[in-house]
Amino acid sequence: AAKESGKNQFQIFDLETHVTRKERVKILEQIPEALQKRQLELFLQPKINIEQQSILGFEALIRWNHPEEGLLTPIQFLPHLEYTEYAIAVGRFVLNEAVRFLRYWQDHGVSCSISVNLSPSHFLSDHFLGDLAGSIAGLDEAMRPRLILEILETTALDDARSVIRLLTECRALGVEVSMDDFGTGYSSLDYFRKLPADEIKIDRSFVTDMLQDPDDEMIVGAIIGLSKHFRRRVIAEGIENKATADKLLQLGCVIGQGYHFARPMPFSEAMAWAEDFNTRKSV
Ligand code: C2E
Ligand code: MG
Ligand code: MG
Ligand code: MG
Repeated sequence: AAKESGKNQFQIFDLETHVTRKERVKILEQIPEALQKRQLELFLQPKINIEQQSILGFEALIRWNHPEEGLLTPIQFLPHLEYTEYAIAVGRFVLNEAVRFLRYWQDHGVSCSISVNLSPSHFLSDHFLGDLAGSIAGLDEAMRPRLILEILETTALDDARSVIRLLTECRALGVEVSMDDFGTGYSSLDYFRKLPADEIKIDRSFVTDMLQDPDDEMIVGAIIGLSKHFRRRVIAEGIENKATADKLLQLGCVIGQGYHFARPMPFSEAMAWAEDFNTRKSV
């Protein structure tokens, strides 16, 4: 496409996503319609208690049912929204959908948590606490700890003091906080100790190959040890086979997520999957 546009023109590529500025603008222009026409959808991936083989909850992972491009994954559009007003609009959508799911589960006697991923620019914006309070306003107080906010470790490092204050205020509203992709940032151990987080999520880059790579296993073990000592719940993502799940259990990590259990699925599919999982367990 760069060639077709002529000799004297050049396109600016985003080094990470290989998307041109033109494509980026196109994505941004389509977001309002995507929200309005409900093309954005939260897929759910189960979080499993490996020891008891029970479902603890689900992580919400956004997808875009694009009318021309088909199903888009977050990496294909979310990075372009950062630091635009659309990161906030989509962030609000995600919070509201998650709360809607929680209320559905409450009405149907299902005790599951839901984890949502927060975009750095929404979380660090002046809107965030108000948006969160607004989303959970109609939610019973007892249900609020079932909403888990996933913050990237790299976001938490942005401005340590204000992040600690923000997370403290989120927890004062009754929701839980999880450090996502832990191990990929540069948290000091002192910062780890001070972080007001309920949960630490070990990045899948360490988990997926831990059986082949002793360094990965060492890192996973160290994060589990730290989490236990500082009384944080620890969860592993990216479990792709039973042997990895067994190893994690042996290292003391009881909660896990990954393709070995299930891929992210639309809400109704996830509910059917859960029913099937619970039936298989009890026979
Ligand atoms: P994440 O929060 O670390 O989510 C885990 C990613 O790993 C998901 O990719 C999930 O589908 C994938 N995954 C799960 N199990 C396995 C496994 O066993 N093996 C492998 N190879 N991958 C696995 P996905 O859905 O493409 O999401 C990518 C990232 O996009 C997420 O990483 C999260 O940072 C971000 N994201 C997703 N949904 C949202 C959202 O609603 N809002 C924001 N701000 N970010 C989101
Ligand atoms: Mg996550
Ligand atoms: Mg993660
Ligand atoms: Mg990730």
